[in-house]
Amino acid sequence: LQHTQKFVYDFTEGNRDLKDLLGGKGANLAEMTNLGLPVPPGFTITTEACKVYLESGDEPAELRDEVGAHLDALQQTMGKKLGQADDPLLVSVRSGAKFSMPGMMDTVLNIGLSDESVAGLAQQSGDERFAWDSYRRLIQMFGKTVLGVDGELFEEALDDAKAAKKVTVDTDLDAGDLKKLVKQFKKIVKAEAGRDFPQDPREQMDLAIRSVFESWNTDRAKLYRRQERIPGDLGTAVNICSMVFGNLGPDSGTGVAFTRDPASGHQGVYGDYLQNAQGEDVVAGIRNTVPLAELESIDKASYDQLMQIMETLETHYKDLCDIEFTIERGQLWMLQTRVGKRTAGAAFRIATQLVDQGLIDEAEALQRVNGAQLAQLMFPRFDEDAKVEQLGRGIAASPGAAVGKAVFDSYTAIKWSRSGEKVILIRRETNPDDLDGMIAAEGILTSRGGKTSHAAVVARGMGKTCVCGAEDLEVDTKRRRMTAPGGVVIEEGDLVSIDGSTGKVYLGEVPVVPSPVVEYFEGRMHAGADDADELVQAVHRIMAYADRVRRLRVRANADNAEDALRARRFGAQGIGLCRTEHMFLGERREMVERLILADTDDEREGALSALLPLQKKDFVELFEAMDGLPVTVRLLDPPLHEFLPDITELSVRVALAESRKDANENDLRLLQAVHKLHEQNPMLGLRGVRLGLVIPGLFAMQVRAIAEAAAERKNAKGDPRAEIMIPLVGTVQELEIVREEADAVIAEVEAATGTDLKLTIGTMIELPRAALTAGQIAEAAQFFSFGTNDLTQTVWGFSRDDVEASFFTAYLEKGIFGVSPFETIDKDGVGSLVRSAVEAGRATRPDLKLGVCGEHGGDPESVHFFHEVGLDYVSCSPFRIPVARLEAGRAAA
Ligand code: PEP
Ligand code: MG
Repeated sequence: LQHTQKFVYDFTEGNRDLKDLLGGKGANLAEMTNLGLPVPPGFTITTEACKVYLESGDEPAELRDEVGAHLDALQQTMGKKLGQADDPLLVSVRSGAKFSMPGMMDTVLNIGLSDESVAGLAQQSGDERFAWDSYRRLIQMFGKTVLGVDGELFEEALDDAKAAKKVTVDTDLDAGDLKKLVKQFKKIVKAEAGRDFPQDPREQMDLAIRSVFESWNTDRAKLYRRQERIPGDLGTAVNICSMVFGNLGPDSGTGVAFTRDPASGHQGVYGDYLQNAQGEDVVAGIRNTVPLAELESIDKASYDQLMQIMETLETHYKDLCDIEFTIERGQLWMLQTRVGKRTAGAAFRIATQLVDQGLIDEAEALQRVNGAQLAQLMFPRFDEDAKVEQLGRGIAASPGAAVGKAVFDSYTAIKWSRSGEKVILIRRETNPDDLDGMIAAEGILTSRGGKTSHAAVVARGMGKTCVCGAEDLEVDTKRRRMTAPGGVVIEEGDLVSIDGSTGKVYLGEVPVVPSPVVEYFEGRMHAGADDADELVQAVHRIMAYADRVRRLRVRANADNAEDALRARRFGAQGIGLCRTEHMFLGERREMVERLILADTDDEREGALSALLPLQKKDFVELFEAMDGLPVTVRLLDPPLHEFLPDITELSVRVALAESRKDANENDLRLLQAVHKLHEQNPMLGLRGVRLGLVIPGLFAMQVRAIAEAAAERKNAKGDPRAEIMIPLVGTVQELEIVREEADAVIAEVEAATGTDLKLTIGTMIELPRAALTAGQIAEAAQFFSFGTNDLTQTVWGFSRDDVEASFFTAYLEKGIFGVSPFETIDKDGVGSLVRSAVEAGRATRPDLKLGVCGEHGGDPESVHFFHEVGLDYVSCSPFRIPVARLEAGRAAA
């Protein structure tokens, strides 16, 4: 078959749908050619040829002839031959992969120049300096990229030439200087590459093609692909394009243009132009560009033609396009176009503008934006123009921009915030005790822990800015200070700014601008600045499209009425996870302590019945806030020692007391209990359903609180829809035992209150065994909620509290995965367990309700996966609900 394969396409033969084969640049050059736009003639060598080269170390046998035939045709069209002595055709040889990899691969310009043809170019252009400068550039570029000569050597020679002439810019070198420089450059090539600079133009071209192929696998190209998650086996195409020159005098020039403003989305004339220059000069910043609008007065005919072309392109591509063009002596040439990058705000605006213009429909508009962009629009941001002093950098755990005075303990955070101060809570790491301090703070900064550390998860849940694992910052909570690498010391009360979107930590107050999009979701958007209104309207419309088409429902992870109400405003269709342990903190902690320390049934029952009314009140408030919508309440999950004092601190306290001979009885008992409950591996220890099975009455108390709260709401004419969820189940037997007890309690409450509560009981699937035996577990569960945090932890054997800060950076750098599996669901591993559990669960119980409540529920890529495997809903923190709604819509559109 190989011999029938076509490896070279003339620009007239391709089109924009052939990006796999022709790369982005080649496909779009072909598209423009076929639209009749002025593209310098040329041809493209396919990515397939590159793949053959990379696999076998050699070009496909027929490539040389095919390139030869296309070169002949090009020479015919141009009326001159490559490198022809009296009037040379010159070409550029440019890389161009399917996905843009800016500057990562090779390009060589001016191929075809030689000792002979440089004179012909001088003659034809009437500009000797230009000809020798072009030749100089060729040897330099070719020497560096094709022959592997150290580019510094050319730069040094160039600098020496300028110094000898006492000038500072290249343009001050005349033809004579450049001739000398060419001689020197050739010497460098000979000395370094061990061969002469090739004078045969076809040899130049073939070597350049080969070097473009090879540049696919340079270290920096590989690194870039890993970061951008571009597959490594695509290969690059090679574009051979006849050269046009923007540096032939004042009636020439080069520029870039956008069909709309990539920052605002507005239509208009956007771009830059540089007279008498080539593309590289713009990049090098040799002279300042002028706004594109000024081209109108420089060259009206070209300007008008460009405007016309831009309109053609936008209508054709139905999107914002960016363009590179060159004007050679009054003739406009298009060198590149592509659908252009844009800011998050512009993406939303442009999508709705294009709908209004009738260019795209609503389903297409949804594909033009994404959740990451929406998330970006939702966080307050630091003013980009502000001057900053960076102290360090950690993990971007929960986005946003927060400014406040440094405090190093929760007590101070609360005290200061009560007196009206804004504070940043800085800790080595946080624990449940810090909750009130975290609530009081503007933002949280820790020096330890990853994206699923306590600080990160809780902060994301609250929509609070958080930077965690900033290991280069030394936090000393005892002395209430933090030391940055440069030796800068931040004392309590000093102002710091943290950016949860980048992980950067700054000294002092960086100015912040609020998000109009959140004001809108909160229902607080006033018709303020025009700009904001336009953005908010676009977001509003896109969200409406998404809600109309999505199949997945979106619920919130919330455990208090305030969060529940916010979640509702943000569009939540229920609560998918209420973590009841969050209700056992603060002053109730002592009651839990009593429960844990109870020696007798009486003591235990006493502790439980003290907790019951408090739990019930929590649930009444929650069911009221979510009236008419499902609320999944998860029974107590974490290991009990989380509610007890730290083992080291307590040991020291008791030891000191003992040495003073005034140890108190309670402390001694407490220490005993702490020792008894201490676990080496608490995440795999006594937690979840295991607690319910060994602490008599604990789950029953929680179930009673839920049932009584539901009954109370019902009798108050409310519509409570509680679902009881059992955590960390590994086998159906565990669930059966808990269910039996729960069913009895519910029946009792129903009888006592004269209600039919319609409570459902389900389980989390967060252990591999649960997923593997999902068919059996579904016998006893009315719903499954995938706890993908613990499932990821247990499937990979990665401690969710440690690995992100310890070795994930190395894993990411080595490309073992492109993103943390705690952030985006690992489809092949964890995901395949989810998929098979869905199937097995539904096979047992066709009406089984299926959701996910791990952090992945609000992650864009994961939402698409959950749509695909057929879940009924995703549940995520309130602030991520709009993102999940949007992505669920995009997945279904
Ligand atoms: C989970 O494990 O995915 C989950 C939602 O439970 P938690 O994060 O509370 O362990
Ligand atoms: Mg869990």
